[in-house]
Amino acid sequence: MPEAPDLVVIREYLLPRLVGDVISSATELKPLVLRNMVGSGAGTELEFKADIADRRVVSLERRGKLLIVGLSGDREIVISPMLTGGLIWCDASARIAPSTVLIFEMKSGMHLRYFDQKKMGQVYYLSTSQRSDIVRLENQGPDVIDEPLSFGDFKLGLKPFRGEVKGVLTRGRLVSGIGNAYADEILHEAKIYPFKKVTRLSVDELASLHRAVYSVPAKAVGVLRERVGDKIHRKVRDFLKVHGKKNEPCPRCGNRITAITANRRETNYCRRCQPGSLFDK
Ligand SMILES: [Zn+2]
Repeated sequence: MPEAPDLVVIREYLLPRLVGDVISSATELKPLVLRNMVGSGAGTELEFKADIADRRVVSLERRGKLLIVGLSGDREIVISPMLTGGLIWCDASARIAPSTVLIFEMKSGMHLRYFDQKKMGQVYYLSTSQRSDIVRLENQGPDVIDEPLSFGDFKLGLKPFRGEVKGVLTRGRLVSGIGNAYADEILHEAKIYPFKKVTRLSVDELASLHRAVYSVPAKAVGVLRERVGDKIHRKVRDFLKVHGKKNEPCPRCGNRITAITANRRETNYCRRCQPGSLFDK
């Protein structure tokens, strides 16, 4: 669920609260999400609990769709929420939601909780030197918010790709931080059919795509900053133009928004503003 714009705002909220606080204990409520890369018997909860206790949070970074919590003594927590994961910052006494997977208990009396309805995400616990072992982190392209590419570099970066434009955007190799929702928004803004092959994009389409890739998520950050507040666990998506808007009118032309399920995810687009066909890609 969280894409770069969501995580920018989540990070901004957590930064002054989490950094400086100390983890007194951590509890794994459900298996499969936590990957303990520290120590010999990797994965055992006891080892994880003993190692993480009393470490201070020293930094909080975001890269693409991942958050990296830096801890004292060269440890890190890398959080990859994927489709269904998220974070809650709450008082220790707050009710524990059924989807809660991991709880970091802080000395301040607060909890940082990771929840994940389908347990599709990963939370890695590692030594700083092990960062390069996390393929998902290392294989990411430049960040969509913090590291915009020039048009020249963007075109050059696209060269190795042959697939459909939406798939190239969400894969994260060219640009990182774009998921299903913002890919739909970017392609609507750029007036490009989501299943068009990148090799068939005209120079004008490439220019519109480049502009939209960087303008749409950046604009969303501004909206989310006002809307999310302390509800960092809630996804605010109602302001989007096409994603999740099946059958609603396109804000540009009034045509009904289409939904197509392909590659196990729904794509929303406007047939009039983004003409194309699955048989002519
Ligand atoms: Zn339209």
